[in-house]
Amino acid sequence: MKVTLTGTGSPIPDPHRAGPSTLVQCAGQNILIDCGRGVALRLAAAGVPVPFLSAILVTHLHSDHITDLNDLVTTRWILTPEATPTIIYGPVGMKKVVDAMMAMLTPDQKYRHDHHADLRNGPGMQVVVHEVSPGDEFKIGDARVIVGRTDHRPVTPTIGFRIEAEGKSVVLAGDTVPCSELDDLCRGADIYVQTVLRPDLVELVKQFVPALASRTNDILDYHSSVEDAAKTATRAGVKTLMLTHYVPAMQAGQEADWLALATPHFTGKIVLGSDLTTAEA
Ligand SMILES: [Zn+2]
Ligand SMILES: [Zn+2]
Repeated sequence: MKVTLTGTGSPIPDPHRAGPSTLVQCAGQNILIDCGRGVALRLAAAGVPVPFLSAILVTHLHSDHITDLNDLVTTRWILTPEATPTIIYGPVGMKKVVDAMMAMLTPDQKYRHDHHADLRNGPGMQVVVHEVSPGDEFKIGDARVIVGRTDHRPVTPTIGFRIEAEGKSVVLAGDTVPCSELDDLCRGADIYVQTVLRPDLVELVKQFVPALASRTNDILDYHSSVEDAAKTATRAGVKTLMLTHYVPAMQAGQEADWLALATPHFTGKIVLGSDLTTAEA
């Protein structure tokens, strides 16, 4: 089982970090969790062309986590000789968002149909959306996926995924504060991937941009801090903690500072870094 951070950024554009997404490769499957800004570029760098994705799992409908979903759908269609549908699993509300996205893509679909007979006569640009809820389970090939509740209120519903295959497990928590359901989902996992922020640095941002202080302050109460993630990892007894979605963006040379916040609370392996950082179980 291999986990690749295909995007470690956040809504704040950063020249070196794509938006949030994570690639899990196990049991012959390429499973993408969330699809933030620039994900297709990072998939190319990871050696996984978009048409080779088995399924896309979406933790919640915040724009930074789904902004490039349309790129994945279109790219799969136009780069595959006989395109199979893009398979999407997401929270309740996913279908409505995808329906609107497909409506947005209608002009492009017409242009390509008008120009390419093989696309016109093919199966078309297709998506299959499964809305899932906490407690649900499903399979992607031989990989088993368990859905758990997370807490990113007022954003709701939000879900995390536990993927199990070949005797290994990884949890993709998405944006959430610590909660008992997250602990349960993570219990004994080989790898736990958590989106995190640094309240101390967010405080600095507030001082530099006072006009946005109120809005910046709001993000503190619905994300896990680095310390929170480390404590969840310890409570749940995971082996490896992987941090991503750094808010604000982790600058080159700051890795040790971020790590130092986690190590007092978790004695297992901690992985963080640039886009395309990997962990294996
Ligand atoms: Zn979010
Ligand atoms: Zn986010």
